[in-house]
Amino acid sequence: MKYKRILLKLSGEALMGDRQYGIDPERLAEYAQDIKTITDQGVQVAIVIGGGNIFRGVAGASKGMDRVQGDHMGMLATVINGLALQGALEDADIPTRLQTAIQINEVAEPFIRRKAMRHLEKGRVVIFGGGTGNPYFTTDSAAVLRAIEIEADVILKGTRVDGIYNTDPEKDNNAIKFNFISFDDVLRKGLKVMDTTAFTLSQENELPIIVFDMNKKGNLLKVVSGEKIGTEVNL
Ligand code: UDP
Repeated sequence: MKYKRILLKLSGEALMGDRQYGIDPERLAEYAQDIKTITDQGVQVAIVIGGGNIFRGVAGASKGMDRVQGDHMGMLATVINGLALQGALEDADIPTRLQTAIQINEVAEPFIRRKAMRHLEKGRVVIFGGGTGNPYFTTDSAAVLRAIEIEADVILKGTRVDGIYNTDPEKDNNAIKFNFISFDDVLRKGLKVMDTTAFTLSQENELPIIVFDMNKKGNLLKVVSGEKIGTEVNL
């Protein structure tokens, strides 16, 4: 395996499957099976999960809600998704711990870096819920932050598109995919990989990002074993 310790970022929307809202248990079970193929190979897996399938602070604020309160709701949504993912992973016999940035001690462990690293060393998957614990941030920022903290080799951003294109491939048939692109070129070309806060944090800490299609069975194993699918963003 090319990567020994990875941080997998899954958006909340990825958990919806074909639904308009909420969580699709079948999609979760498929993800769990894919994750098992890499934990079986000894890869250490940490996961940051989004909340957009349930609630986004910005969406609430646009309808007159207090932004900070909305962001608190969004962060709690990521904890709900984390619990659902933990359940699916445990059903697939993968030992899993959920650690949250906001303390909910009856439900999950608080985020403690050393403990998280220990879990990973013991072969447990660690899910980080609650984002960064701060409003005005995103779970992409949480993903980069946690990846740096736990010294992950790479961030794998699982999406429904198979990489980064020069224009939106869902709108433009002539869009061209990059197999590799530098951090500088992403910024120069104004491409959207993550929000800017998350992206520059990754760049400053020289943490590579691979964007790939997580909905294709077997892709996760391919990426982790070093096969060139998706798009790698690196120095
Ligand atoms: N959020 C936040 N701080 C964080 C992470 C998330 O306030 O550190 C809130 C924010 O309201 C965001 C929501 O949680 O809209 C869900 O996260 P995100 O939009 O990143 O989820 P995704 O798009 O990955 O599903």
